[in-house]
Amino acid sequence: MQRPRPGRREIEEWADLYGGAGEHAAWRAVEDAFRRDDLEATHELALGLGAGAAGAWLSLYRSIEAEALTRRRSVRKTLDSGLDLEYIDEEVGGLAGRLGSWTREACREAARRLGFEELPPLLVTVLSDEADAPWVPLRNGYCEPKDGFFKVCLPAYLVDDPREFQSAVRHEVAHALCLDAAGGRMAAWLEEAVSMVIGDECDPRTPRRFATGRWRWLDPRRLEEAFGEDRETAEGREIVHRAYEQAGVLGTVLARRFGEAALGEVARRIGRTGFLKELAARLTGLGPEDPALRAVCGWGVRRLFREGWRWCRAEE
Ligand SMILES: [Zn+2]
Repeated sequence: MQRPRPGRREIEEWADLYGGAGEHAAWRAVEDAFRRDDLEATHELALGLGAGAAGAWLSLYRSIEAEALTRRRSVRKTLDSGLDLEYIDEEVGGLAGRLGSWTREACREAARRLGFEELPPLLVTVLSDEADAPWVPLRNGYCEPKDGFFKVCLPAYLVDDPREFQSAVRHEVAHALCLDAAGGRMAAWLEEAVSMVIGDECDPRTPRRFATGRWRWLDPRRLEEAFGEDRETAEGREIVHRAYEQAGVLGTVLARRFGEAALGEVARRIGRTGFLKELAARLTGLGPEDPALRAVCGWGVRRLFREGWRWCRAEE
C-alpha cells in the first residue's frame, strides 16, 4: 500500500504552524521521498524548507541536492541482475565501459571477502562533477538504504583512478552488506571497521599514532560518539578521521586473527540476535555486536578494544 504523499505547500504550512516540531515532520516527509529515490520530489520539498533553517539536516540536504543534480542528466546501466550503475555520460569521458567492470569486480570482491554468496540489490551512482565540491559531506562516498535496495554514491573525481574507485566501491558495498545482514543494528564503529578492511584503507602509520599517545585510543562508547561529530568543522573532521582509523585498527586485528569472512559472519549473527540478548548487552552499555562477536570470535567488544590497543603498542 502506498502512503499518501504530502505536497510542498502542506509541508511549508506545517513548518510555519508547528515551528520546530512541524519542521521535523516536514523533513520526515523529505526523508521518505529520498528513501524512494524520487529525487525530483525530494529536492522540491527540501527547497521549500531551506537548509539554513534546519542545521541538523544540512548534510541530508546536500546529499539530496547532489543526487538530484546527477539524476537530471544521468544514464543507468544494468551490470548484473540487482546491480545498476548510474553516471553522467559526458562527465566520465569514455570510461563508462570500464567503470562498469570496475564496479562489478569490486562488488563481487567485497561479497566474496566477507563470505556472502550474494549482494543485496544495489544502485551505484557516480555523482555529478557539479556536486564534487568541498560542501559535499562524506566526500569519499556514502551508502544509503532506500526502499528495497541500497544506493552507493561516489564523488566524480574517483573515476580517474581505478584503484581508488574500487576501494571506495568495496568500502560502501561492505556497508550495504552489513546493513542488510544486521538489519541496521550494527554499531557505526564496527561497520566502519569492516568497511575500512574491505576497502584496504587502513593507514600503516596509524598504530604508532595511538601507541605514542598522539592520538587518544577511545573506548567503545566514545568511539561510537566520535562518528557523530560535526563534519562541517575542521576539529570535527579530525575527530571523525581518527575514529575511522581506530575502527580500521579494530577491523584489521579481527581480520588477521579470525579471517575477513568472520567480519561478515558477525554482521549475519547480529541480524539473528534476539531481543533478550540485545537487551542484556545494552544493559552493560554495549550493543548486539557484543554477543555476536563472542559467538563468532570468542572475544567480546571490550576484549577486542584491548587487543586493538595491544596491537598498536606492538607495531610501534
Ligand atoms: Zn564508511
